[in-house]
Amino acid sequence: MGWSRAAAALLLAVLAAGCAPETPPPSAPATSVPATSSPAVAHPTVASPAAASASPTPPGDPAHPGPEVPDPRPAPGPRPDLDDPASTAVVVNKRRPLVPADWAPPALQDVEGHRMRPEVAAALRGLLAEARAAGVPIRIVSGYRSYDVQAETYAGWVAQLGQAEADAVSARPGHSEHQTGLAVDVGDGGPCDLRECFAGTAAGTWVAEHGPRHGFVIRYPQGARATTGYAYEPWHLRYLGPERAGALVRSGAGTLEEFSGLPPAPDYPAEPPRDD
Ligand SMILES: [Zn+2]
Repeated sequence: MGWSRAAAALLLAVLAAGCAPETPPPSAPATSVPATSSPAVAHPTVASPAAASASPTPPGDPAHPGPEVPDPRPAPGPRPDLDDPASTAVVVNKRRPLVPADWAPPALQDVEGHRMRPEVAAALRGLLAEARAAGVPIRIVSGYRSYDVQAETYAGWVAQLGQAEADAVSARPGHSEHQTGLAVDVGDGGPCDLRECFAGTAAGTWVAEHGPRHGFVIRYPQGARATTGYAYEPWHLRYLGPERAGALVRSGAGTLEEFSGLPPAPDYPAEPPRDD
């Protein structure tokens, strides 16, 4: 059935990561946006865990000290693995595909009909229970999506809008945070689900405030498209674990990219022109 097939593709597409149902204005190419376009995307000095735990120089140390130049970047230290998709610290964006591209989590758990990594499932159950106990209506809209599902979704958008427009609303397969099993979209079942106005709902304000305590951050904050590659998605929660999520919030870094000491990812790397 042509109609139901198209409708199903559209539904999947709406749920695609970056999962924004609203197409951002095509007249605003991300490449032309200055990296410092928003005051929310400032570049504060990120407190370095390594520096905080560094032991003081022992008295009488004979080593010849060099000039001390403070490093404003987070010290590598025992750096969480930003590249390994199995790590909860992994950073996936338009410049950092999953490696391998069709990577899948070794284990997934179901929470209210949506799949995610076991540690994410446990944290999300806690978050949902606490929110609901506080009288906040909240539900899961989307969880894990495989490479194949994302490929289908993205192809549907490309067929409908062309690649440039598709890239503004849907992640290419291998580039979706939902493929890591660490991302969930939440809503309240109302008209603001998967829309920017979700930020103003009781559920939206609750997850923004209390999410980090459960390990979740708003992955695509407002005004940070030049860094994250996506418009504001107040419904898209990324699990980092309570410790790292809290550290991100306290650091004042606007985005996971900045917090992780990684360059902005406003768009996909340019491909060589094909002439065939
Ligand atoms: Zn999402």
